[in-house]
Amino acid sequence: MRTADPLSLNDDQLLRYSRQIFLSDIDVGGQSRLLNSRVLVLGLGGLGSPVSIYLAASGVGHLVLVDPDRVELSNLQRQIVHTSKSVGEEKVDSARAALKALNPDVRITVCNRLLDESDLVREARGVDVVVDGTDNFQARFAINRACRAAEKPLVSGAVVRLEGQISVYRHDQPDSPCYNCLYRDIAETAGDPAQRSSWENCAETGVLAPVAGIIGCVQATEVIKLLVGFGETLCGRLLLLDARTMEWNCVRMKKDPNCKVCGVGTGGKI
Ligand SMILES: [Zn+2]
Repeated sequence: MRTADPLSLNDDQLLRYSRQIFLSDIDVGGQSRLLNSRVLVLGLGGLGSPVSIYLAASGVGHLVLVDPDRVELSNLQRQIVHTSKSVGEEKVDSARAALKALNPDVRITVCNRLLDESDLVREARGVDVVVDGTDNFQARFAINRACRAAEKPLVSGAVVRLEGQISVYRHDQPDSPCYNCLYRDIAETAGDPAQRSSWENCAETGVLAPVAGIIGCVQATEVIKLLVGFGETLCGRLLLLDARTMEWNCVRMKKDPNCKVCGVGTGGKI
């Protein structure tokens, strides 16, 4: 994280972010840190929408948005950064316009193509925190490996039907478990459609719109905590929501010493 001069906030910024600055966990110094932070948001769908909206509104200084898709009518039910007018546009362009309208302070860089792993590592190296808002296991495993190589914290979320889950993988810290520790079995069978878990893809299973919003908001909260450096993140814990009963469960996770991504001797190689 970068250090920042608290005096760098102008009067408009002090007013815009006043309700955050009132929080003792944030204060002027924390707000200044947010304004000097960079976050990579991978996917501008049901999770990336609320994540990017709240990070922009909160005053994260630079968002790097990545999504290769265009806005479709069926996206609008839950991908709330896009509007009816955006149908047919690149998602990154649609999101950039919406986020700039919300907060012109925020610098936004966009990429409208699918990143391979070396691109992901390069992009992750250039930011403070990475947010995974993608909707398939292949992308999630690739993002996890890239964050390990770049040694950057990863805020991961997933949502299907009325269920969601969130965790934080501190690839910048040696003792943190990673996404691969959690889903090693799936990682090893990801190429076999018969072995895929039902967490695979909301395009096939459906999702209740506000549940994506809930999970995305938790991800955005974790990003802000990481950037400012307060509280206790979900590192080492997997938070699970069943919105049908509105029950939350938190499962402790341990680092797998034999994990092929973060285990002993892997050295962050991909
Ligand atoms: Zn691992």
